[in-house]
Amino acid sequence: MSQTVPSVAAGREFLAIPGPTNVPDAVLQAMHSPALDIYAGPMVALTDTLLRDLKRIFATSAGRCYIYAANGHGAWEAALTNVLSRGDKVLVLESGRFAIGWGEAAKMLGAEVEILPGDFRRAVQPEQVEARLRKDTKGEIKAVLVAQIDTASGVINDIPAIAQALRAAGHDALLCVDTVASLGCVPFEMDKWGVDLSMSASQKGLMTPPGLGFTAAGPRALEAHKKANMRTPYWDWTFRDGPVHYHKYCGTPPEQLLFGLRAAFDLMFAEGEANVFARHRALAEAVRRAVAVWSEGQTFDFNVTEANERCDTVTPVITRGGESAQALVDYCGVKCGVVLGRALGKTEGRGFRIAHMGHVNAPMVLGVLGAVEMGLKALKLPHGSGGAAAAIDYLAGAVPA
Ligand SMILES: *Cc1c(COP(=O)(O)O)cnc(C)c1O
Repeated sequence: MSQTVPSVAAGREFLAIPGPTNVPDAVLQAMHSPALDIYAGPMVALTDTLLRDLKRIFATSAGRCYIYAANGHGAWEAALTNVLSRGDKVLVLESGRFAIGWGEAAKMLGAEVEILPGDFRRAVQPEQVEARLRKDTKGEIKAVLVAQIDTASGVINDIPAIAQALRAAGHDALLCVDTVASLGCVPFEMDKWGVDLSMSASQKGLMTPPGLGFTAAGPRALEAHKKANMRTPYWDWTFRDGPVHYHKYCGTPPEQLLFGLRAAFDLMFAEGEANVFARHRALAEAVRRAVAVWSEGQTFDFNVTEANERCDTVTPVITRGGESAQALVDYCGVKCGVVLGRALGKTEGRGFRIAHMGHVNAPMVLGVLGAVEMGLKALKLPHGSGGAAAAIDYLAGAVPA
């Protein structure tokens, strides 16, 4: 007689949600340190290295970076209030949930918001952006908001092509890019691509606990800042550019989070950005190979329909008939100790998301795929068999001996 066990979830619970992500031990250990004098040498030096390295990570030499004690929603507000005035028109490029959320914040702050409608399963189409901007002959649109990766839909938007669409339309709106779910995972080149303003947060690709938000402001954003009337004391760049260290954080720095961020940057630079991006790409492709096999059972499917629009940090999976995937999510959590992401936005309640972002390696990703496959079998959900094996085959070829 075969024995059964109620659960194999003991051991470290593994978060496969798209933020917060796994915090490396080196980051946790760096945070376990006493506070520093906020006016003296070591803290001031730490800030200098972080601001320098943020410029490297956003790939800007012309821009200025700012660090806030805030999450991504805070950094959204920081970006908007520093460059806009009440009544300014903002064009939001829909490709999921997150640019829409940024637009909702802009509206509450007093901007006039127009959404360029998109599809929850497709990336932003640059030619539609160009066509809309060409119609704005009076130049009413002051800013264009877009997420590089939309964490709800799982699309990656082609930021260089969108920047090119603005130029082709001869439009001078500020191009503002949310990189919360992409920075430190996939290439982002602020100066080279012509991005005016970007914002991000600590808890996804940057492998640090939630609580730090960032803005990177290019020359055109800094120029717009001078006449912006939405500015408020805490977010204000001018104040933060002030002469003393205290100004940099508009008050007490979130010191332990900054110690953690330093350790996270050190890990990233030790691995090398090119390898970090290649690792994300390979592990994401392994997940996609598994999902492709499972979807042969006609129950599940990729949310993103076009293969080249699927991002390398999270893979949303939907049910074809709109059924709930909660039983599978619960099985993975309760029985296996793997926390999958819930489906969000237009797919809410009808799928799940596998995150593969930040501090992840092959056993983590293969472990998640193995647990999902266990769940598919145990719950007798129709699926093509051998998804995890397909992921292993792919990785064995992608990572040669
Ligand atoms: C997570 C996320 C946010 C919001 O960040 P919070 O820290 O939860 O406020 C914004 N944009 C994108 C693309 C995200 O993935």
